[in-house]
Amino acid sequence: MNIILFGPPGAGKGTQAKYLVKKLNGYQISTGDILREEIKKDTDIGKKIINNMNEGKFVSDEIVNSLLKNHVFDPYKKGKLIFDGYPRSLSQAKNLDLLLNSSNQKIDYIFFLNVNKETIVERIKKRKILERRTDDDVDTTLKRYDTYIETTRPVLDYYSINSNFHEIDGTIEINQITSKIEAFLNV
Ligand code: AMP
Repeated sequence: MNIILFGPPGAGKGTQAKYLVKKLNGYQISTGDILREEIKKDTDIGKKIINNMNEGKFVSDEIVNSLLKNHVFDPYKKGKLIFDGYPRSLSQAKNLDLLLNSSNQKIDYIFFLNVNKETIVERIKKRKILERRTDDDVDTTLKRYDTYIETTRPVLDYYSINSNFHEIDGTIEINQITSKIEAFLNV
């Protein structure tokens, strides 16, 4: 089962992805984590993306798509992909379709965790303390939210016409969100 967790930064995609990984024996494909790992390892890519990441700006499609491809084509991960933070633009959504088609896969479920701006700012303040992320200050969060509205939210129109698209109120308790997802998945 391939699943997309979609929503603004701070919607709880990562939390639900980690749960689904355990429940379904899946693989979390968090492009944010993959990119942070490049920075941590101080790779050439890491050096290129560090400024954009810290400022809450998107990393180029070229870099993100090439890193993503390895995971989508990984035979161990096939049919067990849990996308968290990808796609973030219409062109990324189309790229994902191409990658999945060419590896005989599809998206089985898309869950949109819908959260308002105020809740996101409160959550990100807490996450900054817990996870020490350098892009988790209020200004950067607001910038990331604006980018979400401009570039990522239009992807909803691309997906919401499909019967596998489900919107979930992302402001309710974490375990209630999990229960709703489980009900759709029938697990
Ligand atoms: P996240 O951990 O998903 O909140 O992502 C953290 C940061 O990584 C984002 O603010 C972007 O700078 C970068 N990033 C993550 N995923 C993508 C993506 N799909 N496209 C472009 N940039 C991304």
